[in-house]
Amino acid sequence: MGSVKHQPKITVGLMDRRSEVSGRMNGHYYGDGFGPLSHRFLARATEKTIVLFDEADREICRSQVIQLRSSKNSTFTLFGTTLGNGFHWEKREDQTFQGDLTLRLHKDGTITVINKTSIEDYLKSVISSEMNPASPMEFLKSHAILSRSWVLSGLGQRKRTEKTLNLTEKTKGRKVLRWYGREDHDLFDVCAGDHCQRYYGIGKKISRQAEEAVQKTQGMVITFQNKICDARYSKACGGFTEEYDTAWEDRRVPYLKGIPDASSPYQPIKTEEEARRWIVSEPNAYCNTKELGLLKKILPGLDRKTKNFFRWTVQYSRKELEKILQEKSGFDFGALQEIVPLQRGPSGRISHLKIVGSKRSLIVGKELEIRRWLSPTHLYSSAFIVKVEANQFIFQGAGWGHGVGLCQIGAAVMATQGFSTEQILKHYFRGIEIKKIY
Ligand SMILES: [Zn+2]
Ligand SMILES: [Zn+2]
Repeated sequence: MGSVKHQPKITVGLMDRRSEVSGRMNGHYYGDGFGPLSHRFLARATEKTIVLFDEADREICRSQVIQLRSSKNSTFTLFGTTLGNGFHWEKREDQTFQGDLTLRLHKDGTITVINKTSIEDYLKSVISSEMNPASPMEFLKSHAILSRSWVLSGLGQRKRTEKTLNLTEKTKGRKVLRWYGREDHDLFDVCAGDHCQRYYGIGKKISRQAEEAVQKTQGMVITFQNKICDARYSKACGGFTEEYDTAWEDRRVPYLKGIPDASSPYQPIKTEEEARRWIVSEPNAYCNTKELGLLKKILPGLDRKTKNFFRWTVQYSRKELEKILQEKSGFDFGALQEIVPLQRGPSGRISHLKIVGSKRSLIVGKELEIRRWLSPTHLYSSAFIVKVEANQFIFQGAGWGHGVGLCQIGAAVMATQGFSTEQILKHYFRGIEIKKIY
């Protein structure tokens, strides 16, 4: 690994598949052989090229790739970017970014908008976008180290493999196993939405606390055997964290092990009976908090609609569930007969689920695909048990998200209880070290 002198740059995909992009340059930008540019601009995809116009509607240049370098302290604003793409909180607003702006023509003739910026500036925006600034500082610092590790480990991966996996799928007869890799992007390192990490721009949106958390941890990452960790996180584990291969490919990642998210020595779940007992119980755990004041401090406004994430119940009539299943999976199961967990990870999350109907039965995995098939949106988690009563399918579950790595709500609660950044990170990622690499 070794240390690097300068912090790396990162490319972030801000917009995708647009026929037109409009915005404003605040300050001076320079292109190849033109500039300075400032004020409003418009880019339009025409046949096999992008045409850039200035405020007076004059053509500035046309090319498949238009790179605009920022001069000192210049920023650019994009009009009408989408937040929470495809989720229930989707909305549009103008956003401002610092760093360079690139417009690239995609294979399908649309424009992709890319921002190149320093990792540390990127992180200030991520921490501000993902976290409420009122969260405890030790939690914000833990998250800054975690997010930095995740990004830097991914940059290495992308350079090594140079391949793009859209979706990893194994469909063998009666089995549909899918997971969604982090190497989805071909034109940039990370996207600005929930798929990677939320990056909603700068300006008013950078909180003083996020800035402080990033500055105080500058260049710090978590490492395992001298390699930067592919550090994962999710909202709430439900009392026990999950292992990597319940959510992604069959591979053991030593620092992503299932551990009790509590001071109690809970044991990993091995049998259906243990899963049932765990899910219907309310174990003491760091993420088992109902204190609304604290939750409001941890979760950004967009997420506060969700309160019962530690233990939850969802109920459908047989007809409703048959309809959801057909829409989401694309398979007609006929009359739904049984839903049988075949394999669970240590947190109780199901990685392989059998669905039995009168027309077909199928095994589905892994955790995200299971959550997708069984809800109009997504089930909170795949750690659930199913009861069938009078034509009703009742799902009782635990936790929110894949549960692998750091539990965000648990970590924030630990911080309020006085645990340090180092203690929090070493609790969720066993055997790691914290290192400053630049
Ligand atoms: Zn992404
Ligand atoms: Zn937890």
